[in-house]
Amino acid sequence: MGATTPAEVGLPPSRGARYYFEPQREALPRERLAALQAKRLRATVRNAYANVPFHRARLDAAFVEPEEIRHVDDVRHLPFTFKTDLRDNYPFGLFARPRNGLARLHASSGTTGKPTVVGYTDNDLRTWADLMARSLACAGARPGDLVHNAYGYGLFTGGLGAHYGAERLGATVVPMSGGSTERQIALITDFGARVLCATPSYALAIADVAEHLGIDLRQSALEIGLFGAEPWSEAMRQEIELRLGLTAVDIYGLSEIMGPGVACECEERAGLHGWEDHFLFEVIDPESNAPVPDGQAGELVITTLTKEALPMLRYRTRDITRVTRAPCGCGRTHLRILRITGRSDDMLIIRGVNVYPSQVEAVLVGTPHIAPHYQLVVERRGSLDHMTVEVEARRGVGPDNFDGIARDVAHHIKSMIGLTAEVVVKKPDEIPRSQGKAVRVRDLRPK
Ligand SMILES: [Zn+2]
Repeated sequence: MGATTPAEVGLPPSRGARYYFEPQREALPRERLAALQAKRLRATVRNAYANVPFHRARLDAAFVEPEEIRHVDDVRHLPFTFKTDLRDNYPFGLFARPRNGLARLHASSGTTGKPTVVGYTDNDLRTWADLMARSLACAGARPGDLVHNAYGYGLFTGGLGAHYGAERLGATVVPMSGGSTERQIALITDFGARVLCATPSYALAIADVAEHLGIDLRQSALEIGLFGAEPWSEAMRQEIELRLGLTAVDIYGLSEIMGPGVACECEERAGLHGWEDHFLFEVIDPESNAPVPDGQAGELVITTLTKEALPMLRYRTRDITRVTRAPCGCGRTHLRILRITGRSDDMLIIRGVNVYPSQVEAVLVGTPHIAPHYQLVVERRGSLDHMTVEVEARRGVGPDNFDGIARDVAHHIKSMIGLTAEVVVKKPDEIPRSQGKAVRVRDLRPK
């Protein structure tokens, strides 16, 4: 601690002490949590069966009676729901409430085909704000903090999700959204933001611009960053922490389930607590669909337990992770999802080698002279797949060095991932920056 006390600099007295937004629920003994989950699972299946013809048909086909659900493990009898089911029932076919009973709609950008549309009742929005407030507090934010929210506002759930959660926590929110990076930096420093919410790639873009302007954000009031909406690596975390001078915390969510705040790291930073009073988490083998034991990697599958408008049964997230139910040092009893570093949809198969962009990222971020901005370009040359890794030189590194750096990076990728890739070093700022989710892969292969 420095020479000044929290009172002297006007900070809330809770700073530094453990703080829980919903202490009883966050520390619920696991047996009671399981009983609550079973009860809520039954209510969710009842809601889906009674109000969504799609679910009723699937549940009938699987011979599941809502009233027969007695235990959390009964979830295994339920059919899976896939992202394509949302698209196929566009726009409101999976809703369990009539449209005029909904308070809000969000939608995904929909890069291919129709977007996926999600809806919320008043109660759903209240739960979302509570869980996002719980997540912010879990990450170290406190009532009275100034939260600079650089998640995009609009149909994307990031902006409004973080916004209402921060308000619910009792923080002061700056609803900045993405873009206007120079202005973001001015407001972060002028207003004295303690908490930054953004995608990790945009956090780095903010760091780049600040350094370019000669502004040292490490000297700002920023202490905590909540970063999510795209998978990111441990190496990326270190880079962000070093350059922004804050503690970078991983937060997880997806609009099909709710939005940001489904799970969040605590101050122990040993996995993300998944809020089990509202969601039922499973990890399965994505090929056989069989459950995998705790600690083993598989696809994360989530069932909502309290959603009214859009109950989701065994949603296949495509996120590859592991879970642990071991007690956490923070006192919260909810399971922890280990950091999600890959999404099965993002996995590239190049000449028979499975490659996640995050694996390449982990190599790049640790390499001297390279900035943490990159793109992977995959194309077919003749009958063979070919991957080019476009990286960016750090400022001050001369073009004379580019060839040597490229050889060095290609060597590391070969030895770490087992893949032969062409590496192209570009000048600073030549890789496009994202304002939201980063575009890491350009797959130009014919379908
Ligand atoms: Zn914890």
